[in-house]
Amino acid sequence: MTTSTATPAVTRLRWSSTDPADQFTVHDPATGEAIATLQGAGPQQVDAAVRAAHAAQQNWRRRSHAERGAVLRRIADTIREHAAEIAAIETSDNGKPTSQAEGFDLAASAAIFDLFAGSITTPPSAAAQNGPLLDVTTLEPYGVIGAIVPFNWPPIHTAGKLAPALAVGNAVVLKPPEQAPLSVLRLIELIEEIVPDDVVHVVPGRGPVGAALAAHRLVGKISFTGAPATGVSVLKTAADNLTPALLELGGKNPFIVFDDADLDSAVPWLIEGGYFNQGEACTAASRLLVQDTVYDEVADRVARAVRRLTVGDGADPATHVGPLVTSEQQRRVLDYLDIGRAEGAVLHAQAELPADPRLAGGYYVPPTLLTQVAPTMRVANEEIFGPVVTMIRFRDEDEAVRIANGTPFGLVAGVFSGNHQRALRTADAVRAGLVFINHYNRAAVGVPFGGTGASGYGREHAHETLHEFGYSKSLRIPNGLGPIPRWQPSLDVTATPERKEPR
Ligand code: NAD
Repeated sequence: MTTSTATPAVTRLRWSSTDPADQFTVHDPATGEAIATLQGAGPQQVDAAVRAAHAAQQNWRRRSHAERGAVLRRIADTIREHAAEIAAIETSDNGKPTSQAEGFDLAASAAIFDLFAGSITTPPSAAAQNGPLLDVTTLEPYGVIGAIVPFNWPPIHTAGKLAPALAVGNAVVLKPPEQAPLSVLRLIELIEEIVPDDVVHVVPGRGPVGAALAAHRLVGKISFTGAPATGVSVLKTAADNLTPALLELGGKNPFIVFDDADLDSAVPWLIEGGYFNQGEACTAASRLLVQDTVYDEVADRVARAVRRLTVGDGADPATHVGPLVTSEQQRRVLDYLDIGRAEGAVLHAQAELPADPRLAGGYYVPPTLLTQVAPTMRVANEEIFGPVVTMIRFRDEDEAVRIANGTPFGLVAGVFSGNHQRALRTADAVRAGLVFINHYNRAAVGVPFGGTGASGYGREHAHETLHEFGYSKSLRIPNGLGPIPRWQPSLDVTATPERKEPR
């Protein structure tokens, strides 16, 4: 990275353009101060990065599994060594508490690299004697993976795309989020020192940079994480080249509490599920569905806990909930509180905002519990992506499932009940890629992660993810165990064809 003397300094990267229109500024959400101006890529730089990755991949794919695995393991170790440093950077542009960045994001990122370092040594390949043929199926890399990352867990999404892509033998061109790119840039800087062959490239910028990447005909597959509307746009762009895409999109996740649940356990999990990472989580427990017999009790317990949350600068170890990532995101979430109240929801509890004048320009939203929410309200259906939990009442199991499945999303769900048969029945009926029973622990590296419906498709963070980053290729080899049947034995192509004399 090189910097000029302007304030904030304009940071140039390998694939920066020279067009001032591609510059963008990153703010510290805790104070609203501008902390960096990056010179982003333009279409020519995206093209050059993809071509460089495409050329480099030829060498990388020929390296042994052991070599690629060793590289991934070294990356995992390096992330652990630099976890505190990268976590502080992540707090500076994303806003989240540093303890969450280090303990969750960076720990998960290292674990993802470790996972695929191990996975690739037992790749999903198969060989079988099949009559007169030996059939051998291998996993082929797509070539260049176009990876597009959102702002909420930048290191995890970077790891979730890079690790399996590199394991299978792909090169990667990655676009970091424009709101919070700094942790990704530091991570990639460290990774570039470890990965040989020049196979990892980063193209900073806003949406059009992602669109240029998705449109590139040398991109073999797109791995996108972000909002459903952006996913649709990515898919339409990719359609022109028939480029396949893995899409991890939003969620409006139900957290279902039956009246026989252990509330001493359910309430702390709900607080973590709803307000961790400022609620800027595709996995946020944003819909709290509670059986009517315990609705008031749960509302009171959650309200008491919400009021105890400390909102503040993520760099302060006392902070539970940091600021939202940008002023736009703050505005959007505050608007949803107005929309909810106008629809008839009750603002049941809020945490205090920080009083420190140094934080007056920060993008804070008070963690909020909305009660008396009806399943038809906008706040019960649209992804708010902030520290807001909407509390909905249900009478029985059937109604709980009906409400849970009543949005287009299907990412994760939580089911809390003391009756394990009821919990399992409900988990079976709920449409989601991942269901937590009597807990809500989202650190699930090794378990297939992804959704259905408007939450997208494809699975990350597990052994099966290797299939997302490679396609099957089969060789059919005569094994000498018998004749290979032909389906047109009567067609004799060895006979000399009748020649037509030229006239
Ligand atoms: P976003 O869709 O606005 O942006 C995501 C990325 O796409 C950014 O890098 C952005 O610059 C880029 N982009 C924007 N327009 C583009 C275009 N036309 N073509 C290509 N790329 C484009 O999402 P966000 O606001 O950064 O993140 C929040 C969303 O991400 C939420 O909906 C959330 O649920 C979702 N998310 C999903 C998961 C998951 O794994 N399912 C995880 C985290 C976040």
